[in-house]
Amino acid sequence: MNLCSVSIDLDEISHYFAIHGIDAQTPELAHLVYDRALERFARLAKECDIPLTFFAVASDLERPESAAALKAMVEAGHEVANHSLSHLYDLTRHAVSVQETEVQDAIELIEACMGVRPTGFRAPGYTMTDELMGVLSRSEVAYDSSVFPCPPYFGVKAAVLGLMRLRGRHSRSILDTPKVLTAPTRPYRVGTPYWSRGEGMLELPIQVVRKSRLPFIGTSLALAGPTRSCWLAAGVVGEPLVNIELHGVDLLDESDGLAALVPHQPDLKIPYQQKFETFCAVVEVLKARGHRCVRLDEAAEHFQTHGLPS
Ligand SMILES: [Zn+2]
Repeated sequence: MNLCSVSIDLDEISHYFAIHGIDAQTPELAHLVYDRALERFARLAKECDIPLTFFAVASDLERPESAAALKAMVEAGHEVANHSLSHLYDLTRHAVSVQETEVQDAIELIEACMGVRPTGFRAPGYTMTDELMGVLSRSEVAYDSSVFPCPPYFGVKAAVLGLMRLRGRHSRSILDTPKVLTAPTRPYRVGTPYWSRGEGMLELPIQVVRKSRLPFIGTSLALAGPTRSCWLAAGVVGEPLVNIELHGVDLLDESDGLAALVPHQPDLKIPYQQKFETFCAVVEVLKARGHRCVRLDEAAEHFQTHGLPS
């Protein structure tokens, strides 16, 4: 049985301003992901008839309106997972005590706000270390989904950060070791180092296309459009788990008031309805080819029970 999971990182708009080194921000924009994008994802889930996994930045849930919006999704059967307490892009460079706070306090806060204990974790900016994997193990996290063995993504991120340094702008984003590019592309148990196989944490890597290792994530699918995305999907059909990672911002566009972000986030130019249709089209292709759509915690449980792919 081949699986497919769609997960959404609920990074709020304020995190995008931080990553791109933009100061300007109006209060109305600050909560667009929870206030506007979430209901669009609810519609996506309904239209595609799939469950979703939401990776929440726990501190965002201290705002009652945001917590209520996500709670409605949880009550509709979707999963809430842990995207850390405050989304420090350089989390892995902080002391281990800070990493523990960011992981464990997030679990407690999400449980307090949502009434369910999150079992999965995704690191801010996909940046992982053996130390952070150790923190996850000690925090009884059931699965991690942060490893993104994608050379094109890595190259672009390195180039953008280099360019920003040249221009004297500061980004909070940091680069992972290029060794992550040698990590398995299918679910595995991490060893030491975490990009090798071992007996540790269950890792569900973020999806790349077979052979080309092109990113198979929201941003790249949005830019590719429905036709080319379905063509790309042929390169993931048959994988034991197609782990599609979206962001809250993937169902927003510049008409939502985000024109200032467009130079940094060109996919915001694309109307959200078109991105919506692209994601639906991809899910339909995968379903038609026999993939069963499940939440990531269900996928993790499947691999615990039935063993890991080679
Ligand atoms: Zn994030």
